[in-house]
Amino acid sequence: METIAPFIEVEDEIKAAGGDIFKLCFQCGLCDTVCPWNKVRDFSMRKIIREAVFGLNEVEGEDIWRCTTCGTCPQQCPRGVKQIDISVALRRVATEYELFPASVKSARTARASLISEGNPLQGDRKKRADWAKDLSVKTYTEGMEALYFVGCYLSYDPRMKKVATATANILKKAGVDFGILGSQENCCGESIRKTGSEEVFKRLAKENIKTFIDNGVKKVIVSSPHCYHTFKNEYPEFMVNFEVVHMSEYLLELINDGRLELSGEYAQKVTFHDPCYLGRHNEIYDEPRDLLKKVSGLELVEMEMTRKGSLCCGGGGGRIWMDTPQEERFSDIRLKQAKDSGAQVLATSCPYCITNFEESLLNLEYEDILEVKDITEIINDML
Ligand code: SF4
Ligand code: SF4
Repeated sequence: METIAPFIEVEDEIKAAGGDIFKLCFQCGLCDTVCPWNKVRDFSMRKIIREAVFGLNEVEGEDIWRCTTCGTCPQQCPRGVKQIDISVALRRVATEYELFPASVKSARTARASLISEGNPLQGDRKKRADWAKDLSVKTYTEGMEALYFVGCYLSYDPRMKKVATATANILKKAGVDFGILGSQENCCGESIRKTGSEEVFKRLAKENIKTFIDNGVKKVIVSSPHCYHTFKNEYPEFMVNFEVVHMSEYLLELINDGRLELSGEYAQKVTFHDPCYLGRHNEIYDEPRDLLKKVSGLELVEMEMTRKGSLCCGGGGGRIWMDTPQEERFSDIRLKQAKDSGAQVLATSCPYCITNFEESLLNLEYEDILEVKDITEIINDML
């Protein structure tokens, strides 16, 4: 095994990421026990932490790119080691030296697209609001009730545009005075930051913050838990604070306030998948379930591994842009768990989860067994 050692940048980056907290690791191995990777192949975060103590990590290999930042091991570590911060610090070093294994190369395309077009999907910046062309969605102006920050996948991805359309339809039905920023909107930057491209994140974040301030934005509603997380927990690093509300919270509020009325029967068994960045990272577990419970006829069933113990879909930490062999996809396992719960619909509330689940649905040939839906699509069906 070739190592670049002792790699002073590794030590410096890790220290900058969290001081010496990783030195508290006593090698119990619990992180490896709970890590979803060990359901599909060998992977040891414990070993990465051990090597980090000496600054001896192999930064040119695949392993530093595996962590999906799912949040399971930091939540359970008895010593409070910040495993995600260490992974991201190592990726910053690899990025600086342009050390990218083959499976990570596609994340480079996403990065280039973020720099040139403000989205990772090689979509034309000018076409960011094209999904809303025929929906008479307004452009955000100061004084409106809320900004709907659509996000990249809902703006460009054909499957996810359906979720954006459903969302706009619901908000209009509820009489919410909302607007979008269209081509002024940039990617939130959450995932590119987790791949170690700190400068790209900062640039995207600063541009978004300037746009929010210039447009007098006070309240932002978002569909993606990744946008939610970074606006709520990372943008305050730039000394700004906007009210950030996830769509699951917002729709529940609209129903509870009597602004949104649902009708009809949804005679389906539904199970809810907790996205890592909605659940573990931000503790929003009840709102999406309470929202689904408002739907008449809907039977909510729980599958194995839910709430704090939810199984990652595999898309966080920039993994959504990296290549994962089919036999190593967590989303395939998740679909089997959903099927075993007896559910007909696997509902969730994250563009990465839906993208991965839709792909697994085809791979596993489950199209006649399960449907994958964003919770807004279910609510939209009941208007
Ligand atoms: S769970 Fe924490 S203490 Fe245990 S091996 Fe992992 S990082 Fe070290
Ligand atoms: S955060 Fe999740 S994916 Fe990353 S090492 Fe920990 S358990 Fe594994």
